[in-house]
Amino acid sequence: METKKNSMIEKSIVSPFAEIWEDSISQNKSLYTTVKFEHGQVIANFGPKEILDSPNYLTVQVGDNKHIMLAPEFLQYINHGCDPNVFFDTDNWVLIALRNIEIGEELRFFYPSTEWSMDQGFDCTCQSEKCLQNIQGAAHLPLNILTKYKLSNHIVAKLESVK
Ligand SMILES: [Zn+2]
Repeated sequence: METKKNSMIEKSIVSPFAEIWEDSISQNKSLYTTVKFEHGQVIANFGPKEILDSPNYLTVQVGDNKHIMLAPEFLQYINHGCDPNVFFDTDNWVLIALRNIEIGEELRFFYPSTEWSMDQGFDCTCQSEKCLQNIQGAAHLPLNILTKYKLSNHIVAKLESVK
């Protein structure tokens, strides 16, 4: 029988509404709520700590060739989910709740809602029934799937332009 090391979760409070959970073995970090949010509520304001012209694994795309490193920085630990509960509104610079969110839930956003074509694609393990498996950005997903999601205006514009 294979012995499995138990991973431990280290939690650090990073804001009045969230904490980072870090897995001691994988060192994966995720952001979890410490308060409740209602559908449509603004969770946080964000802005660019830095603006880059190409994406990396931490950036959020806000326009054509415009990718930001997030401020506040802890928002970068919001992982991808195929059944997201938050949305980065890159026009109004607010993170909003896509549904009611309970205390202790992991915050996840749909990467293709802001990312056209990601620097590194990955195989999703979000465990949602709706999991799309491989995530590489909006450019790599069929329109009938994309349109089920709330998308950034710059992604919608890009979809129109490649039609
Ligand atoms: Zn998934």
